[in-house]
Amino acid sequence: MRLQQHSSWLLNTLLPKICRLCQQHSDTDHMLCSFCKDSLVPNSPACIRCGEYLPTSVMQGCPYCTPELFAFDACHAPWKYSEGLRYLIHRWKFVKTTNLTSALADLLLEGLETNPIIDALVPMPLHWRRTWQRGYNQCALLAQRASKELEIPTHSVLSCTMYQAPQHKAAHRHARHLSSKHFHCEQNLKGLRLALIDDVITTGQTAHRAAQCLKTAGAEHVAIWCIAKTPKPGAPCPSTASQFYVMH
Ligand SMILES: [Zn+2]
Ligand SMILES: [Zn+2]
Repeated sequence: MRLQQHSSWLLNTLLPKICRLCQQHSDTDHMLCSFCKDSLVPNSPACIRCGEYLPTSVMQGCPYCTPELFAFDACHAPWKYSEGLRYLIHRWKFVKTTNLTSALADLLLEGLETNPIIDALVPMPLHWRRTWQRGYNQCALLAQRASKELEIPTHSVLSCTMYQAPQHKAAHRHARHLSSKHFHCEQNLKGLRLALIDDVITTGQTAHRAAQCLKTAGAEHVAIWCIAKTPKPGAPCPSTASQFYVMH
C-alpha cells in the first residue's frame, strides 16, 4: 500500500499534468487548466429554490418556481451546462471515464455554503439495467466523492423502477418521463435533511419526482445538488465567464 502511495506521488510529481478538457499541459494542480476552468460559465446569481439563472431579479423572487411546482426546497447548480461541461460529462457517463469524478465533484461543490446542514447525500438512482449497462451509477460516484470531502454520509435509499434508454440513443423517440411512482424508498427518513446528488438539472421534473418520494418517506428538507443547470428555454442565461469574477 505504502509503495503504491509513493508510486502515485512520484508519478504525479514527475509526469506533466494534462488538462482533461483541452489536453494541453495544465498550469494548475487540478484536472482543468486555468484557461479551461475560466471558460466554464457560472450559473450565478440563481434562484436558491430551483437553480434558474436570475440576472437582475434575485431580490424580487423567482418567476420560474413555486413550492407547488417543486417538491425540493433548494437547488445548488453552480455552472451553466455549456460546451466544456457537456464534453466532460458525456465522457464521464458514456465513455466510462470515471477518473473524471473528482474533477466533476470539485465543480459540484464549488460555491456550496460552508458546513451545510445536511444529514446525508442521496445519489439520484438509475434503473438497475442502466447501471448494469454502464457499469456504474455516475451520481453514486459523485456522491461518494462529495461525501469524502464534506464528511457527510451517503445513503443510497432511492431506487428507480423505470428503464429509460440512454438519451443520446433515444433522441428521436418520444421522451418518457419518470413519475413519482417510478421512485421507491424503503426507509423511514423522518426528520432528515437530505441532498439529492445529480449531474445536470434540466426541467427539474425528475428531481421533483425523486424529492416527492423522499418527502413521502419523511424527509424534512431535500436540496438538489448538481454540477450544472440547463437554462430554461426562453429564459435569460449566463453567457460570459467574466461574470464569475463580478459575482464572486
Ligand atoms: Zn485546458
Ligand atoms: Zn426559482
